[in-house]
Amino acid sequence: MAYCLQCGHEAVRKIPEGDQKPRIVCPACGYIHYENPKVVCGALVVHEDKVLLCRRAIEPRYGFWTIPAGFMEIGETLAEGALRETVEEADAVGVNPHLYCLYDIPAIGQVYAMYLADLKDGKFGTGVESLECALFNEADIPWDDIAFEAVHRTLTHYFADRKTASTHADFSLHQESIAKDKRIGS
Ligand SMILES: [Zn+2]
Repeated sequence: MAYCLQCGHEAVRKIPEGDQKPRIVCPACGYIHYENPKVVCGALVVHEDKVLLCRRAIEPRYGFWTIPAGFMEIGETLAEGALRETVEEADAVGVNPHLYCLYDIPAIGQVYAMYLADLKDGKFGTGVESLECALFNEADIPWDDIAFEAVHRTLTHYFADRKTASTHADFSLHQESIAKDKRIGS
C-alpha cells in the first residue's frame, strides 16, 4: 500500500497518460511519484603502493571490505560526494580526485562513479560505518571478502592499470554495465 507524498491519499499503481511505465499515482491530487536511479560515489584512495579499504559495520554486506562509497547527496558534486564518504567511512582526507570507473547497474537502478584519490598525509582512522580500515598491498587484498562487484572491478582495474600508469591522469576511464552483482546475488 502506498500513500501520496503530497496529500496522504491512498495512491495507485498505473501508467499515467502519455507515459510508458507504471508509476505510483495519486487519484486525489494527481501527484506522480517517479522512481529514478540513484548515484553512488566512491573513492579508491591510494597511499604509496597501497589502497585504503574499510570493513563494513552496516548492512548490506556487514563484515565485508569496500572502498569508501555511498549515495550522492543533493548539493554536492560527484567528487565531493566521494571525498565525503572517505571522511565518513575512513576518517581520511582524499585529495586529487580523478574519475576512474563508471558502472551502470540497471537491474537495481544504480550508477556508481568511482574516483581515484591520494590519501592526504597518509592518515586515516575508522569511520562510524566501518569496523576497521586499513591500507592494503595488492598481494594482501581480501579478494574473496570484497562487498560489491563494483568495488571488486575497481580494484582489479587499478592493479592492472598501474603497471603502465603513474599519475592519476594516466588512468583512463572504465565504463561498464554490471548485469548482476554476483557477490550479493542480485
Ligand atoms: Zn495526492
